[in-house]
Amino acid sequence: MDISQMNIRQLQQALRDGETSALELTRVCLARIAAGNEQLNAFVTVCEDAALAAAAEADRKLAAGQGGPLTGIPIAVKDIFNTQGVRTSCGSRMLENYIAPYDATAFAKLKEQGAILLGKLNMDEFAMGSSSENSASGVVRNPWDTERVPGGSSGGSAAALAAGQAVATLGTDTGGSIRQPASFCGVVGVKPTYGRVSRYGVIAYASSLDQVGPLAHSVEDAALLLGMIAGYDAADSTSVDCPVPDYLATLNQGVKGLKIGLPQEYFIEGLNPAVKQAVDAAIEVYRGLGAEIVPVSLPHTDYAVACYYLIATAEASSNLARYDGVRFGQRESSETGGLVGMYEATRAAGFGAEVKRRIMLGTYALSSGYYDAYYLKAQKVRTLIREDFTRVFEQVDLLLTPVAPTAAFKIGEKTDDPLQMYLSDIFTIPVNLAGTCALSLPCGMDGQLPIGLQLIGKPFAEATILQAAQAFESETDWHQNRPNI
Ligand code: GLN
Repeated sequence: MDISQMNIRQLQQALRDGETSALELTRVCLARIAAGNEQLNAFVTVCEDAALAAAAEADRKLAAGQGGPLTGIPIAVKDIFNTQGVRTSCGSRMLENYIAPYDATAFAKLKEQGAILLGKLNMDEFAMGSSSENSASGVVRNPWDTERVPGGSSGGSAAALAAGQAVATLGTDTGGSIRQPASFCGVVGVKPTYGRVSRYGVIAYASSLDQVGPLAHSVEDAALLLGMIAGYDAADSTSVDCPVPDYLATLNQGVKGLKIGLPQEYFIEGLNPAVKQAVDAAIEVYRGLGAEIVPVSLPHTDYAVACYYLIATAEASSNLARYDGVRFGQRESSETGGLVGMYEATRAAGFGAEVKRRIMLGTYALSSGYYDAYYLKAQKVRTLIREDFTRVFEQVDLLLTPVAPTAAFKIGEKTDDPLQMYLSDIFTIPVNLAGTCALSLPCGMDGQLPIGLQLIGKPFAEATILQAAQAFESETDWHQNRPNI
C-alpha cells in the first residue's frame, strides 16, 4: 500500500478496513518530517507526542466504528492559525514564544472531523511574501529542487505536502499565498471566495483580502476539506451566511458545455515558454472534453499589483499596530525611552525587514495628505478590477490562466528586488481584489519543476472550478508526480 498515492477517502477506507492504522499513518508522516525537515524546513513546530496520542485515540475510535471522515488522517497547518496550546509564531520573532489560547475555526472544524495535527508550517513572516524566504525560522526549500523556493507565503504548507510529510494542509491566501506555492510544489490549492471560510483565529495580514483554504494532493481531497471548513461563523463578521454545497456531489459532472474564458491580459510576453506550453496544452484538454473556450478581457489587470500593495500594506499597518510589546508576544525594554521607547525597541527587534517595509508603505499611504492620492485611489481601482470580473462572468462560467509567470525560482533570486518579487503575483492578486474564488492544480513540468494551472470562478462558485479541475485531473497524470526527496 503506497499511502502517498492514496486520497483521503481511500485512506479512510483502509483505516476502517484495518489495512492501516492512524498510528502507522502518523508515524510515516513523522518519520518523513524527521528525515526531511533539516533540509526543507517546512515545519516550525512538530507536535510529535500529541500527534501520537491523538493517533492512538483515533485507532480506538476506528476500532469501535466511531469517529468522523478525517479520523486518523494526519494534517498540518500554516503557523498563522491559532492552535490551542501550541506555539503559533506566524514566521515572526515577534510571536516567537506565543502559545495560542484557542483554535482557529477552520482548524477546529478539521479537528472535530477527527484530523490529527502533526505540527505547524513555516511561512513568510505575517504572510508577507511569495517565496517563504521572509521567515524568522529560516527559508523553506522546494522538495523538487532544494536550491529553489517553494513559493509563499504558505510555502511550508505546500512543501510539506509535496514531500509526503502530511496528508493535507491548510494555508491562507491574501494575494496568492495558497495558489502560488501549490503551483511551485505540484499540489492542489484552493483560495475560496472572500467570506466562504471563517478567518476567526487566523492572524490578520490584510483583512479585506485574507482567506483560508486547503492544499491537497488531489482535487477530491481539496473539495472534501473545503466542504468541512466552509460556512458561516458567528465569530467572524466577514464570513457569509450562504449554504455550503456538497462539493463532492458535483465533482464528476465534467465540463461539457461550460464556457471557459481566457483573459488576454494573462497571456503576456513575460510568460515563461514552458508555462505557456503547459497552459496551452491544458486549454486543449478542456476543448477535447467539450468545454467552450472564449477569449475575454480583464482590462484593469495591469493596475492590480500596485493597487494590492497599497491596500494590503495599509491594512497591514493597522493590523500589526497591535504588536506593541504589551498585549502579544515579545517585549524589548528600553533603558531611557519610557513607554514609547519600549514600543519602538519591541517593534524594531520583533519585525523583519519585509514586514517593516510594508508597515512603512501602508502608514504612508494612509497618512493625511497622501490618503486620497494613494489609499482612496487604490480603493477606486479595486472597484474597477472587481467590475472587470463581474463583466466577464456574465459571458463565461470560469476563467483559465497560469498561476505564476514562471515555475519555482531560485532561493535568493528576487530577495534584493522587492518589485520583482511583487510582480510574481501578477496573476493571483486580482482574484483577491475581486474577492472571488480560484484554485491551482498541476498541469505540467518545466524540467523537474511543477507548473500550475489557475481556474477562477464566480463568487461562491467553488463547486464549478472544483468540477472543472476534477475533469482535468481525471484526464491527466500531473498530480501523480512526486519529488525524489
Ligand atoms: N505574495 C503576496 C504578498 O507578499 C501575497 C501574500 C499572501 O497571499 N499572503 O503579499
